[in-house]
Amino acid sequence: MSLANGRPYLAIPGPSVMPDRVLAAMHRASPNIYEGGLHDLVSSLWPDLKALAGTTGDVAAYIGNGHAIWEAANANLFSRGDKALVLAVGQFGLSWAASASARAMGIEVEVLDFGKSAPVDMARVEAALRADREGRIKAVLTTHVDTASTIRTDIAALRAVIDVAGHDALLAVDCIASLGCDEYRMDDWGADVTVAASQKGLMTPPGIGFVWFNAKARAATAGSDLKTPYWDWLPRADATEFWQIWDGTAPTHHLFGLREALTMIKEEGLPQVWHRHDVLARAVWAAFDCWAAGNPDIGLNVADPAHRGRSVTAARFGAPHATRLREWCETHAGVTLGIGLGMAAPSEPAYHGFLRVAHMGHVNAHMTLGALAVMEAGMLALNIPHGAGGLAAAAAVVAAGA
Ligand SMILES: *Cc1c(COP(=O)(O)O)cnc(C)c1O
Repeated sequence: MSLANGRPYLAIPGPSVMPDRVLAAMHRASPNIYEGGLHDLVSSLWPDLKALAGTTGDVAAYIGNGHAIWEAANANLFSRGDKALVLAVGQFGLSWAASASARAMGIEVEVLDFGKSAPVDMARVEAALRADREGRIKAVLTTHVDTASTIRTDIAALRAVIDVAGHDALLAVDCIASLGCDEYRMDDWGADVTVAASQKGLMTPPGIGFVWFNAKARAATAGSDLKTPYWDWLPRADATEFWQIWDGTAPTHHLFGLREALTMIKEEGLPQVWHRHDVLARAVWAAFDCWAAGNPDIGLNVADPAHRGRSVTAARFGAPHATRLREWCETHAGVTLGIGLGMAAPSEPAYHGFLRVAHMGHVNAHMTLGALAVMEAGMLALNIPHGAGGLAAAAAVVAAGA
């Protein structure tokens, strides 16, 4: 018998749970886009968005998802024939590389692939930069948190490596899975460009993307020849008329939702938002560590906690148990877990051995502990062997962190 009736919980790493306040803010008639309240609302977004990324630089907004925002960054950063050095620690670096590739945009892409469960090897990055004697690498592209592997990259360390190599490549960071979840300080850590989208830590439907860029990036890309009128970040960031911010009609209802989401983040305080995600992430890891002790097929994808993102956790469960468990959790208990992404093709049996638990955005202790308890119930129901004590370990982490 299913016990799924009640409020379902979507624990996939985006789109994330939308707060009732965000939904309510969006539930209204279309606003006048030519003057009045909507203009004031949009003006109020920029200081909050800059504070969120930790920058005093500029921000350009686009109607689009994460793929759109990669393309926006590519179009502004590069000219035809420029080189991008892309760091891949899972799936999303590879996807950013594909969107920039010579075939797609005419950018020469060098990918440093560190596999699916190891962090960036800074020595390899340094070597690649030193080998670029002609200075053809215009930018280093990296994820902050790769949503598939859930590896977190040390952005400050990456900046240091670029500086030590004496290279003037820009550093561009994909924070789509981490902004508003995991600590991020664009200016302090030396990132020149940051990209993010609305549907993960920002708790708003997919449909708005952002590119933050500093003065160095603005100057270094002034003559880029891949810019087209729609993707050029300058008219958006420097808009003197409202329509220029979006190059057309504003994404009206998303903006009401986003305003409310940013207000919620402000009310809680960004350090507290980061702390909440950190504690909930560690609660998930504690449960997995106990479960893994009783079954060698179970384990977290990233061995060292220092290299784990705080918004989503990738794990293996042994095929086909990850898929069985996901299905059980959804149909019997109303919790939807994330699929394993990029670890194996959906057609391969191994695909059914990976899953992800999101703890991203509008999520609190009862949601995360509830999801873990449901997973444990599912393991019992499905006879998936696992070590004892997972829930108690997770509860202890929450007790210590609350
Ligand atoms: C979700 C995500 C993307 C892609 O976003 P879409 O909106 O699906 O295009 C890119 N990078 C990271 C790190 C993500 O988490």
